[in-house]
Amino acid sequence: MTQVFNFSAGPAMMPREVLEQAQEELLNWQGQHTSVMEVSHRGKLFMELITQAEKDFRTLYHIPDNYKILFLQGGARGQFAAVPMNLIGEKGKALYLTSGHWSATAAKEARLFCEVDEINILSEGAELKVDRLDFSDIADQYDYVHYCPNETISGVEIFDVPKVGNAVLVADMSSNILSREVDINQFGIIYAGAQKNLGPAGITIVIVREDLIGKARKATPSIWNYEVQANSDSMINTPPTFAWYLCSLVFKYLLERGGVKAAEKRNQEKAQLLYDYLDQSDFYHNFVAKNNRSLMNVTFTTGNDELNMKFVSQATEAGLQALKGHKVIGGMRASIYNAMPIEGVKALIAFMEKFAAENR
Ligand SMILES: *Cc1c(COP(=O)(O)O)cnc(C)c1O
Repeated sequence: MTQVFNFSAGPAMMPREVLEQAQEELLNWQGQHTSVMEVSHRGKLFMELITQAEKDFRTLYHIPDNYKILFLQGGARGQFAAVPMNLIGEKGKALYLTSGHWSATAAKEARLFCEVDEINILSEGAELKVDRLDFSDIADQYDYVHYCPNETISGVEIFDVPKVGNAVLVADMSSNILSREVDINQFGIIYAGAQKNLGPAGITIVIVREDLIGKARKATPSIWNYEVQANSDSMINTPPTFAWYLCSLVFKYLLERGGVKAAEKRNQEKAQLLYDYLDQSDFYHNFVAKNNRSLMNVTFTTGNDELNMKFVSQATEAGLQALKGHKVIGGMRASIYNAMPIEGVKALIAFMEKFAAENR
């Protein structure tokens, strides 16, 4: 089989070892002579699986005891609605810091539920960059402050955590959760759809500080109510058991390889290789300021739409898949999440060199 590397932004590649283990266990999970997706979610073995998964995730991401971890459905978009439903209280309004597509989409959804003030923190001159991160002077007017530390589409990552005083900070980490170490204590809520860096689509992780649980507005549907979900092991309805199982394998896989600290080191190496290559090239361009270059999603363009199309199609033929940029910005995007080995990045750079030489 020819070596293929999948640069999809999401659903994204999974670690090969995890898929192999799942394949091996598919017809006979835990000696049950049945697959994990065919057993009761309330059975002893599945309950053991979720208990261990939570424990492993807590260890991996250094999550303190005063945070609950929920495994929900509905993706990140579900949380765009769940966050205001659960957090809007006396102040009646939320602050959304927007830096691109996903943070702006989250703000739009929140407007269905509460008053939203929006501050665009992305400056779009010659380079995309985020300068302003101190909102401690205004944050206490709001029930919470929301932002997106990694804008998956443009490849803009915000490495410093916004300053919001004592206000509750909420982060959509769908595309950079477990990619580098963070201090969980700085956040009220972190949420992420699984399909980029955690596992397959269908499951959504919500890390929520305990004192924020139990404040949901009355009409909150049970499946979106953090208190209801926390009190029922995230099983108020039948959970996506197979996705949960695959996430549990990913957590083990990461723990066996040095945890998030080691993953961060690998991610930095991979991104550095690619950005260094882009910086010395006069054929490809990346428009993100150095301090905001995403470790997960690397965007680039030749500056010519036709050439970009040719690049994507020839790359696909060469086994480098899904490099087409998101339709709202065009160009190319290489998503290099935790599961992407450095060999994939090296293969991409070799292809880029060859393509540049043939097309300049
Ligand atoms: C992919 C993505 C989303 C959307 O996730 P869904 O699970 O499809 O709702 C939201 N935010 C960010 C940052 C993303 O990368």
